[in-house]
Amino acid sequence: MDVAAMEKLRVAIRGTVLCPGQEGYDAVRTVPNAMIDRHPAVIARCTGAADVIACVRFAHENNLEVAVRAGGHSVAGKSVCEAGLMIDLSTMKGIRVDPVRRTARAETGLVLGEFDRETQAFGLATTLGVVPKTGIAGLTLGGGWGHLHAKHGLAVDNVIGADVVTADGRLLTANANENADLFWGIRGGSGNFGIVTSLEYRLYEHGPILGGAVFHPAAKALEVLKFFRDYSTTIPDELVIQGGSFNLPDGTPVFGIAACWCGDPSEGEKVLKPLRAFGPPIADAITTMSYLQLQGMFEAFFPPGRLTYVKSNFLRGLTDDAMQALSEFCGKSPSPFSFAPFLEHWHGAATRVPVTDTAFPHRQHSYNLMLWSNWESPSETEKNVRWTRECWNALRPYLVEGSYGNYVSDEGDASARAAYGQNYDRLVALKKKYDPSNFFHMNHNVRPTP
Ligand SMILES: Cc1cc2nc3c(=O)[nH]c(=O)nc-3n(C[C@H](O)[C@H](O)[C@H](O)COP(=O)(O)OP(=O)(O)OC[C@H]3O[C@@H](n4cnc5c(N)ncnc54)[C@H](O)[C@@H]3O)c2cc1C
Repeated sequence: MDVAAMEKLRVAIRGTVLCPGQEGYDAVRTVPNAMIDRHPAVIARCTGAADVIACVRFAHENNLEVAVRAGGHSVAGKSVCEAGLMIDLSTMKGIRVDPVRRTARAETGLVLGEFDRETQAFGLATTLGVVPKTGIAGLTLGGGWGHLHAKHGLAVDNVIGADVVTADGRLLTANANENADLFWGIRGGSGNFGIVTSLEYRLYEHGPILGGAVFHPAAKALEVLKFFRDYSTTIPDELVIQGGSFNLPDGTPVFGIAACWCGDPSEGEKVLKPLRAFGPPIADAITTMSYLQLQGMFEAFFPPGRLTYVKSNFLRGLTDDAMQALSEFCGKSPSPFSFAPFLEHWHGAATRVPVTDTAFPHRQHSYNLMLWSNWESPSETEKNVRWTRECWNALRPYLVEGSYGNYVSDEGDASARAAYGQNYDRLVALKKKYDPSNFFHMNHNVRPTP
């Protein structure tokens, strides 16, 4: 980029501007998925909404593609562009918890673990994801499935307001009363309508949790899957389960079922009894723990710097045929670091929200399939991607077209359309209103034109 333009950006923002070759540039452009290796022409480390507005104007003036980075966990690498402007929000970490109203106003550079820590200081929590380094912003704007979704809804369902910098550089408030159409669109429409600089969430009282996981040999996957299916249809909103094939840190291939009970502890002991008795498991790591401990349970399995490729779609149902097909791939991933196949059970409050209430459309009781392949060396990429695709192709007869956009590596117009389901046309109309030139397209993109 020309030096004069760069200087202009340096003067325009309070945060730091980084160019290729400068100290700190590589650390910020590097995202956790090592499959992504892009070099923005310039990175702006924003300190607040004023910097974000200045960045949007600068990108227009210099005709630059824009990528918005919050937690950087997009497996598709949507938060870093090649040769454009990377608008980095990751230093925007302000949060104010209101313990009386039970709300939190959070800047969008926060990651889950930071948010949870601040809210738990008041014994409060809301639904976010299950890996602490994931950004609250990308996760929430795309949906946000987590341990509390069945009791309180998805992360999007608990957003009560947001500040949004739109493509024309205005800062808009979005809530049920102001810019209500934009408020609808950001709750599931990802970053299509602007850069969200802060989010306000509803919070709930949550003390210690009964949770953890049970582990079975991967070779018993079919039996465990049948149990998982039958058990999942009986459980109340206080319990969230997910399960699938992965390796323990010592290399043992297992079919594990993770659980989080967020209700009355003695009732939880009763509800979890069948889960802990079935098999019996080779290990039972379910215990009472703090909510923060539970939220940190998966962290060690997802260190930054591994290569990641993900295929994901909702299953039509856990039929006997689908379980047979799934079981054939359990314990077979070429990498010991993969979670594949793996299932999230979606139920309860998140599935009682009418499909058109928010832009996020996946509201049915369901099982979300993830083939989350992780490996350590680029020399292993070809075999891991091939295996993931083979597995996905074999399972396709049992999958619906729709996917949870936050989980997919391979994207295209058709996949974006399917991910937004019946809300797609309304999202297109909103995109025409707020971003007719598709300025914000590094996301699960809704095109303003057919
Ligand atoms: C290890 C791991 C675990 C995960 N666990 C869960 C889970 O438990 N539950 C779940 O639901 N999802 C989970 N996800 C998926 C996660 O929700 C998405 O990857 C999400 O996009 C991450 O958000 P981020 O802010 O970290 O990502 P980023 O890569 O920074 O952003 C993702 C997308 O959102 C856009 N964006 C980010 N911030 C803003 C903003 N402020 N305004 C406008 N657009 C913005 C970006 O431009 C990009 O398109 C997980 C992902 C990983 C890698």
